[in-house]
Amino acid sequence: MTPRAGRSIKPSHAHPCARTRLMQDKPQHFASDNYAGICPEALEAITRASATGSAPAYGDDPWTRLAADAICTLFETQAAVFFVLTGTAANALALATLPPYCSVIASDIAHIETSERGAPEFFSGGSKLLTPPCPDGKLTPEAIRLCRRKASSPHASEPAVVSITQPTENGLVYTLDEIRALAEVCKEYGLKLHMDGARFACAIAALGCTPAAMTWEAGVEALSFGGTKNGMAVGDAVVFFDRSLARGFAERAKQAGQLASKMRFITAPWLTMLKSGAWLRNAEHANASARQFAQAVEAIPGVQIAWPVQSNAVFLLMPEQAMNSLRARGWRFYTFFGAAARFLFAWDAQSAAIEALAADIRACMAQLPAPSP
Ligand SMILES: *Cc1c(COP(=O)(O)O)cnc(C)c1O
Repeated sequence: MTPRAGRSIKPSHAHPCARTRLMQDKPQHFASDNYAGICPEALEAITRASATGSAPAYGDDPWTRLAADAICTLFETQAAVFFVLTGTAANALALATLPPYCSVIASDIAHIETSERGAPEFFSGGSKLLTPPCPDGKLTPEAIRLCRRKASSPHASEPAVVSITQPTENGLVYTLDEIRALAEVCKEYGLKLHMDGARFACAIAALGCTPAAMTWEAGVEALSFGGTKNGMAVGDAVVFFDRSLARGFAERAKQAGQLASKMRFITAPWLTMLKSGAWLRNAEHANASARQFAQAVEAIPGVQIAWPVQSNAVFLLMPEQAMNSLRARGWRFYTFFGAAARFLFAWDAQSAAIEALAADIRACMAQLPAPSP
């Protein structure tokens, strides 16, 4: 077979990351929770679903029906449930169910604002994101009121939706009271409340409340429910607690290329992970791993934890030189929000790898030239 670009492809049995030196000699990386592999429960579910042979395509299969039912059971309500391939699609398509001439209020560090290449604006055909500065990453009732006041001219883009991320992009968790207060303002202004729950399970593990309490009981009307970062191979769910809001969603998802034809390989893992409790165990492990890492680094002189560790993320403030030498030692990580180094922990985080990272951070800090007196 001739490759299209004319380059020869040699069969290789080496791990592709080994060739590109991506992983170097590190047992694990904590650059993101989507660096992790597929958790055993999800992988076995795929294998089992495949072993049954042929099944109807495009979600007209028993796994998809049962997974949607399992989500309704989990949330103790009859919601409209859809499965898409990515979290970006979940957010963009959920937000695109709005009138296209309206706007969406979100934190200035919201994933929909910083990391989706304008997908919500693109799929909505013209919605505008209004992103008031939120110093700790959390949207507040005051910020929503301010956006509303600013958009009072008939020429402005009228807010129709508020989108909050739970946990936030900087790892904080909205309390139930905070969500209720936001929902209150939304109700006052007739705004819909959407939750980007790419790491929803981590927030549930952190608060120990029911999924219902964190969503529709608190006034959330639509949820992007993350599966990928929770341990699946691919696939996030969109849950409309107000079923009337789901009108047109299926059509938009198909139009966007987000209706998976072999849907059962997305939904069989959802079903197994919800039924077995793996979704919550994975999140508890991820959160505990973040706490372990925070404890291992908090006493290192010159290193500061940027935000309280409330979910599976730890942000470290440290000199750029130390970050560079940490990278030179082969660790991969992103820097965010005024150059804090972000470390995220997934279902598979290993204690020894966490300690190895912490030890390297300590060593990088110790190597810095002493500050001149
Ligand atoms: C990862 C993430 C998403 C979805 O990202 P995809 O890469 O499109 O799956 C959405 N919101 C937040 C907060 C995320 O961290």
